[in-house]
Amino acid sequence: MRTAVFSTKSYDRQFLAPAAEAAGHEMEWFEPRLSRATCPLARGFSAICTFVNDALDATILQAIHEGGTRFVALRCAGFNQVDLAMAGQLGIQVARVPTYSPYAVAEHSVGLMLALNRKLYKAYNRVREGNFSLEQLLGFDLRGKTVGIFGTGQIGTVAARILHGFGCRLLLVDIHENDACRAMGTYVSREQLIAESDIITLHCPLLPQTHHLIDDRAIDQMKPGVMLINTSRGALIDTRAVINGLKSSRIAYLGLDVYEEEADLFFEDLSGDVIQDDVFARLLTFPNVLITAHQAFFTSNALTEIARVTMVNVTAFAEGQPLTNAVTVDLLKK
Ligand code: NAD
Repeated sequence: MRTAVFSTKSYDRQFLAPAAEAAGHEMEWFEPRLSRATCPLARGFSAICTFVNDALDATILQAIHEGGTRFVALRCAGFNQVDLAMAGQLGIQVARVPTYSPYAVAEHSVGLMLALNRKLYKAYNRVREGNFSLEQLLGFDLRGKTVGIFGTGQIGTVAARILHGFGCRLLLVDIHENDACRAMGTYVSREQLIAESDIITLHCPLLPQTHHLIDDRAIDQMKPGVMLINTSRGALIDTRAVINGLKSSRIAYLGLDVYEEEADLFFEDLSGDVIQDDVFARLLTFPNVLITAHQAFFTSNALTEIARVTMVNVTAFAEGQPLTNAVTVDLLKK
């Protein structure tokens, strides 16, 4: 099947091209993100393949439907960027890669915790400049600290295992509890997790119910000096509220791999440009904020699995088989 691949980077081609060849599919590589301006590129392709910041709102879905597209293969797990009701109405099928490597994302989340706590990003620069002072590098032992894990699905469960291994006390929140996590920690209310955690890490999907779950009110209830980690989706956090929390020192450490307005920034080299997003620019001024540009998934293991499952999805669509990884409005109700 001929498939238009949007937001193509060198690493996408490196992993998707051999998987497509093995599955007998032809890929057409497009570098731009899918947007109102670029959706004409999809014309004539019954299948397209998109990533996290490709827009699939109602207008774009209608436009690509007119151009003949009937299938969207998301090469990611999250699907908050898709207007699923409109896709359903138009008869555009959507599939995703629900699991590729929960280890990649959980390990990156813990990496942010360690780097922030021990200020590795500062230490690296200092030592390279011949500054061997330890002033302001003081950290704390993770052992015995209370970590709140919001969302104990695949990634949250791996994070729980790692942190349990460190000897942390785990407080958990999920609408579906699981036994593996119950054996390592305690399911509590959202309020208790927020009030008692030294470190809060977010691993639930972005849904209307979880949009800005970390807002002014939640931050007011947090322990002074809390560490907040978000590798899930940017809009779980109200960034302006978090900036106020950093200014008041209620939040003492912030680790982000995602940002609510990341679509205009992440995945591109903008090092020669002036950043126009003043909220993001303010975040970069804090000495206790560590931001990575949506790279938590970025391991060779994860990209191999994403390519494999994406081709399974394209093949199922091409052959008119049921889509085992279908994304429909019903998923929003789970
Ligand atoms: P998952 O579906 O296995 O787990 C999500 C968990 O959140 C589930 O247990 C679910 O019950 C829970 N949940 C849903 N709504 C909730 C609510 N209102 N309150 C509390 N819990 C709720 O998903 P996963 O594979 O663990 O991925 C989690 C998220 O990580 C994804 O949605 C995605 O946004 C993000 N992600 C980020 C990257 C990255 O590179 N930064 C990569 C992959 C996934």
